Amino acid sequence: MSSENADAVNARPDDAPSGDGPCGPVWDVVVVGAGPAGASAAYAAAVAGRRVLLLEKAELPRYKTCGGGIIGPSRDALPPGFELPLQDRVHAVTFSLNGRFARTRRTKRMMFGLVNRPEFDAGLVEQAQKAGAELRTGATVSRVEQHGTTVPDRRTAAVVLADGEVVLARAVVGADGSAGRIGAHVGVKLDQVDLGLEAEIPVPATVAEDWAGRVLIDWGPMPGSYGWVFPKGDTLTVGVISARGEGAATKRYLEDFIARLGLAGFEPAISSGHLTRCRADDSPLSRGRVLVCGDAAGLLEPWTREGISFALRSGRLAGEWAVRIAESADAVDARRQALNYAYAIKAGLGVEMAVGRRMLALFAKRPGLLHATLTGFRPAWQAFVDITRGATTLGGLVRGSAVARRALNALDRRA
Ligand SMILES: Cc1cc2nc3c(=O)[nH]c(=O)nc-3n(C[C@H](O)[C@H](O)[C@H](O)COP(=O)(O)OP(=O)(O)OC[C@H]3O[C@@H](n4cnc5c(N)ncnc54)[C@H](O)[C@@H]3O)c2cc1C
Repeated sequence: MSSENADAVNARPDDAPSGDGPCGPVWDVVVVGAGPAGASAAYAAAVAGRRVLLLEKAELPRYKTCGGGIIGPSRDALPPGFELPLQDRVHAVTFSLNGRFARTRRTKRMMFGLVNRPEFDAGLVEQAQKAGAELRTGATVSRVEQHGTTVPDRRTAAVVLADGEVVLARAVVGADGSAGRIGAHVGVKLDQVDLGLEAEIPVPATVAEDWAGRVLIDWGPMPGSYGWVFPKGDTLTVGVISARGEGAATKRYLEDFIARLGLAGFEPAISSGHLTRCRADDSPLSRGRVLVCGDAAGLLEPWTREGISFALRSGRLAGEWAVRIAESADAVDARRQALNYAYAIKAGLGVEMAVGRRMLALFAKRPGLLHATLTGFRPAWQAFVDITRGATTLGGLVRGSAVARRALNALDRRA
């Protein structure tokens, strides 16, 4: 045998490029979860020309408890050419304080859009597939292993499915949502968990007309809680969110909210609940060859609990850095790339989350002050409009405007 052939026979799998292993192909990137974060990660890695597998436990399209509010940063983070399946365009907001002091403010230009999540998410997955990612639905991931007998070498992670099948990857992106397995593997730490309850309520045309183009935001009775009505053609998405642990009070808030709006007579097509989770500032975003993004990483705006833009933006970054991890020569290099991902997240979304935390603390203590400021102080309303349109972000506003910084500091002191 020539020495070249001997080398080939003796070569460990981790010296080989991605190819077929004992458990099938070694994917460059395996993404777990096909929500906005996972679809975005799969798209980013596939566009870079890598072999990408997207694993999703549900069949698509699948329902997700969500208002479906698409603010400017979400729109701006969509793959090029993606047509938003908008159900309505928001030009007016009615604010109320636990049902009282309702005031409607309007804008000529659209503030933000509303989508049905099943359609929106399925569209994003299609974009990832068009870019070359392979999709497997009905594939529930039960764990990831980075050591042990399932892992052939140090450059590979093993993704184990519920039926015992093992899928090998050079890099793994965990995008399996707020109750996901991959966040637990990475050791994501949380400092806020909330429960959101929603009802999808089909309404007659006369009621739908009254809501067209207008949302309602109600600052709720429990600290940090709020409710919303998001119109989507002949259906209203009505929901509330509050700190976890107050399930009965949150349910009562939703029932009272629906009754107060005169919607109690209409039978919801879907009633559901879902947890939202915000990461602690020092929470990890990676472990070895595994990155987490979106809800799985606890990336969510703590005040409004807006998470689609966080999922899309962190998903794209995770996909891009997963490509680099897949290419890395050894564990040290992989770790360097993972730290770069964490740095990119902290420098962008981390700053927005920090401002959101301050807003939530203020709002939890003084909802009336926030209501009065938004409805009675024009610059505050304008800032709200600018944030929803994507002209700025909470973080950008505080960084770029001394007036906004002083106002937030003053509000902090009054709270
Ligand atoms: C009541 C409520 C209202 C909201 N309203 C808004 C809003 O109006 N606008 C906004 O921007 N954000 C909103 N959010 C937040 C937003 O819904 C989330 O932040 C967003 O869905 C996060 O996307 P994701 O891709 O990280 O996770 P998800 O959308 O949860 O997707 C995770 C995917 O992973 C799959 N999965 C889970 N476990 C596994 C497994 N073991 N194996 C394989 N697949 C798995 C799931 O089936 C799912 O498809 C709301 C949240 C709630 C609870």
